Amino acid sequence: MKRIGKIACALAACVLIASPALAAEKVRWKLAMTWPSTLTPLASPAPKLAKIVSEMTDGNFEIKVDGAEKHKAALEILDMVKGGQFEMGHSASYYWKGKDITTVFFTSVPFGMTSDEQNAWLWYDDGQKLQEKVYSKFNVYSFPGGNTGVQMGGWFRKEIKSLDDLKGLKMRIPGLAGEVFAKLGVNVTNIAPGEMYTSLDRGTIDALEWVGPGMDIKMGFHKIAPYYYTGWHEPASDMQFLINKEAFDKLPKSYQTVLKTAMQAVAADMLSENFDASAKAWEVMKSEHPNIKVMTFPPEVLKAMKKANDEVMEAYAAQNPEFKEVYDSQQKYMKKAREWSKMSTQYYLETTEAIAK
Ligand code: CA
Repeated sequence: MKRIGKIACALAACVLIASPALAAEKVRWKLAMTWPSTLTPLASPAPKLAKIVSEMTDGNFEIKVDGAEKHKAALEILDMVKGGQFEMGHSASYYWKGKDITTVFFTSVPFGMTSDEQNAWLWYDDGQKLQEKVYSKFNVYSFPGGNTGVQMGGWFRKEIKSLDDLKGLKMRIPGLAGEVFAKLGVNVTNIAPGEMYTSLDRGTIDALEWVGPGMDIKMGFHKIAPYYYTGWHEPASDMQFLINKEAFDKLPKSYQTVLKTAMQAVAADMLSENFDASAKAWEVMKSEHPNIKVMTFPPEVLKAMKKANDEVMEAYAAQNPEFKEVYDSQQKYMKKAREWSKMSTQYYLETTEAIAK
């Protein structure tokens, strides 16, 4: 934007008359979500972002949001943003592990950080810098787009009593957790969110993991697979905003700031929205859905998952320097952050719960 002043001269006096800035630049973007538009809270951040950006720019920067029901390409968001068909996307980084395994760290990894720890790593340690580095090869920017907090371990038709019960099981489970389960004999697949219930209903899969009670129960999985396991594999899943680099770089600086600020605001908002949805769903779960059996995996199974996870991580780190760089950064940060998590949140919960009994 250029400011144009003009010199007006009358008799002997010349004065500079400041004219207002030229009309603000009109920007019209499109954003594609991995989620169907009704799949809140995952489908909440993008429309909220569009509203904030529009209002903060007096309607000059508009972002049109398309859900998966419209573009029909839930798991192709990265390509569409990279190619410029959409300037923005809202998805989850670990869906791109087939293109670049290091993307998994920007969603969540098994036995990894909690949302408090991960947010601190992203914004106050090296996390976001590393995310930008990993995504620069796709010519896109990736920013945190809302966290689910600790996810549940998934829905199973039958109880998992031992490692033998995992063998031959067909399960929808994305990210590195899928590779961990594959090592333990599970037939792993990823399925777009809009097709999960049908796949379970038709027996294409025997088990699946999705998010947590707030999102899971309204999907109806419990009607088919009532064993509901606590989490181990996605302790802090971040969604992501993807932005075409060229489109972002040519925005006026003020619009870039509006966009970045709005992304951070709606990301924080999604963590609260999902926590609220899960707390409310959990409160009524026993009375409204008495068939759901809440379980934890047996220690033998959890130990095998941890061992398989360490092997998967070490194998990637040995062959991929960038994977190793991000893995080392997370592990190093988690080591100190976990001590504080234990001293603060864990002690608080344990001590106050103990006297409440
Ligand atoms: Ca999940």
